[in-house]
Parts: sequence; structure tokens; C-alpha cells
Amino acid sequence: MKDSCKIDTLCVQAGWKPETGESRIPPIVQSTTFFYGDSQAMADLFDLKRDGFFYSRLANPTVDVLEKKVAALEGGVCGIGCASGMSAILLTAMTLCEAGDNIVTASEIYGGSFNLFSTTLPKFGIEARFFDAEAPAEEIEKLIDDKTKFVFAETVANPAIVVLDFDKISALCKKHGVLFIVDNTLATPVLCRPLDFGADIVVHSTSKYMDGHAAALGGMIVDGGKFAFKNNKRYPAFNVPDESYHGLVYADLPVAFGTKCRAQMMRDTGAIMSPQNAFLTILGSDTLALRMERHCRNAEKIAAFLEKHPKIEWVHYASLPSDKHHALAQKYLPRGTGGMMSFGIRGDAKACARFMEHLQIATQETHVADVRSCVLHPASTTHRQLTDEQLVQAGIAPNLVRLSVGIEDADDLIADLAQALEHV
Ligand SMILES: *Cc1c(COP(=O)(O)O)cnc(C)c1O
Repeated sequence: MKDSCKIDTLCVQAGWKPETGESRIPPIVQSTTFFYGDSQAMADLFDLKRDGFFYSRLANPTVDVLEKKVAALEGGVCGIGCASGMSAILLTAMTLCEAGDNIVTASEIYGGSFNLFSTTLPKFGIEARFFDAEAPAEEIEKLIDDKTKFVFAETVANPAIVVLDFDKISALCKKHGVLFIVDNTLATPVLCRPLDFGADIVVHSTSKYMDGHAAALGGMIVDGGKFAFKNNKRYPAFNVPDESYHGLVYADLPVAFGTKCRAQMMRDTGAIMSPQNAFLTILGSDTLALRMERHCRNAEKIAAFLEKHPKIEWVHYASLPSDKHHALAQKYLPRGTGGMMSFGIRGDAKACARFMEHLQIATQETHVADVRSCVLHPASTTHRQLTDEQLVQAGIAPNLVRLSVGIEDADDLIADLAQALEHV
């Protein structure tokens, strides 16, 4: 199986190739520790001179299969499986930033990421500078200075459904020699591969489409492996010896970011994915390409239905020809933009609640992007801790309903939405 295979083939085949007599699907290696017969072998492991597993807080064979798989799907050189999407983003930031540094991020991002950047990272002396995804490049550029460690955005923003203008951000990052990090959770590598469009690192919540069944929490960091850390003055921590790792200089390694992330931050936090969750996510991701196809086709039909409905004020779904992100979607996500959309109900928060209570197929959930359709009213749930001003900044109107279209029959879903809208 070659990495040059199409993404549909990689979803099924990448990550695990059994030796003769081994299990056809990857085993769950439920062990904290690993046996070595001689002490030199152990010493070499600790010196990173040989590959291998020694403690499941840093790496585990089942998690390794998923890491290799997602790295292959994204076209990167190394994956790091994390306990959740949030821990993947946190570890990425910790690997790159120290007190006094800053990050530059789109404000239209997942609520948890927004909180991490706006509230938690500042407690450690790391400042987050937010930009409007649609702002012109010159405005975003003003936020970048010599303490900026990365620029962050989502391919398809959750829940604002803004499509990332890769060329705009990538050109800025290249000009300033700063890392471009993309959260590709909602697009998945089936619909878009950020590394192909100038991103340096990709992060995921695998709890969403990657698993697809809402069974396992997880996150993934993929290192593109191409960023030039060597002698880049913006990243001194990659160019001086790491005394906690016998003087290793990360910029000298073939996989600088990925190695630093695992050897330092995974070691110090243990925020790794469990073998059981990795196994479930591997199973789920086998059908990722098939599922994404259905999510897209269903959502396209539903968006077209909602757009014409008199009780709907607006629909944000980038595959709709009328959507303001349609051109970007066609450029970067030609296969479709996934199952997530948002729309505004003509009415207030109460009207939104009445509509959602009458749905019989789509359920109200604090989750998105799995096989079952679900709805959420972000202003009163996931984003309720935000001020009105922050809500507007995050692209969330008070009457915004987020709909995650599943893989049920599209006509059934449309009939359900139609009857629930009668109650508005
Ligand atoms: C859900 C989500 C996260 C956080 O992932 P968890 O696995 O819930 O920690 C991060 N980014 C995006 C875009 C998400 O949708």
C-alpha cells in the first residue's frame, strides 16, 4: 500500500500492515509498559536512538497505528495521538510557546479552543491575538510580531461555518517565517488536506467525524515535517540543547516539532489517547471517506430545503451557491464541505427551543459530526459563558441553530425538519 494511493484507499488501508500470522485488524495493546531483555536497548530508547515503546504515557502500539494512519491521510510525517482534541491543541501550544510569547488566531473557532486561547493560556503568560477570518491580510499581519509562535484557524469553522482562506494566511506565515496551524476536525482529510495548502501542522478532534460514532474521545497532531526551524530566530527553543533530553537540539532532527512535542510535552503531561479509544477510532476511520460522502450529499439537500423555507432567515453552508464562502469551498473543498451547517430561525431563542424540542430524528446534543443528526443552540449551551460581544466575534447570532447532518435518509431528515418548523 503506497502513500500515493487515493484518500479513500488510505482510510481503509493505512496505518496497519500485519506480519504473517498477526491479527488482520490492529490489536488493543492494553499495557502500561513493555519488556526489554537488555539494558542497552532500554538506554537507546531513552536516548531516542532507537524506535520502540517503553511506557504508554508517551507512546503505545495501538495509538501508534492511528497516528501513522492519520499522518498518512493528512500527508504529514508524524502523528501524535492525544486524549482529546483540546489536549492536542494545548500540547501544540505548549510545545511552541513560553511566557511572553503570543499566538495569532481566527476568532471563528471552536468554543473550547476559544476559551483555551482567551482565558487559560494568558494565565501562563501566553497572549492570544484574535482576528476576524474575513479581515484583509494587512490587518492580520499587524498582529504578528517577533514573539508570535503560530497562526491558528479552522478549515471549516465550528460553529460559524467559515471556510479558511488558506492562501491568505499561508502567504503571511511564509513571509514572517511563522508556523501555520490548522484545526481540520470538521473538514477531515477526505475533504481537505491543509498541508497541501501551506499549513505546517494539523490538529484534530478525532472525537468527531474521524471516529464518527460518538464512541471515543481523542485528538491528533500531525507534523507536516517541512517547516524550517534550523537557525530560525523565532524558535530559539528548537535551536538550543534541551537539557531535559541530554542536550538534544530539536531543529537538527528530521521531525523537529513532533519529537519535541512527544519527548517533552507528552512526557510531562501524559495527555495521550488510550489504546481502547485508539482502537475504536481506527475502526471508525476505516469508513471515513464513505461517511463524508453521505454527510455532504445529505447536507446539500437539507441546506437547499432550508434556504427556501419561509421560517428560516438565513443558512450558512458553504456548498450552497449563494453562500459567501462558496468560492473558497470550491477551491479548497471540492468534494463537499461536510455535514455541519448553521441557520437562523425567524424568531428569538424561545422559537429556536420550540423548533428543537419538536425534532424527532435530530436530537439536541453537545456533540457534532457523527453518524446521527443532531442540533444545538450555541448561544444558550456551548457558548453561554461568552459575552454578547464575544458571541458576535465568534460569529454566533442569538437565533443561530447548529445542525450536524448525519448519514440517515435525507428525505426523512427533511420531513422531520419541516414538521418541527411548523411549531415555530
Ligand atoms: C470538538 C472540537 C475540538 C475539541 O475536541 P475534543 O475532542 O472535544 O476535546 C476542537 N476543535 C474543533 C473544531 C472541534 O469541533
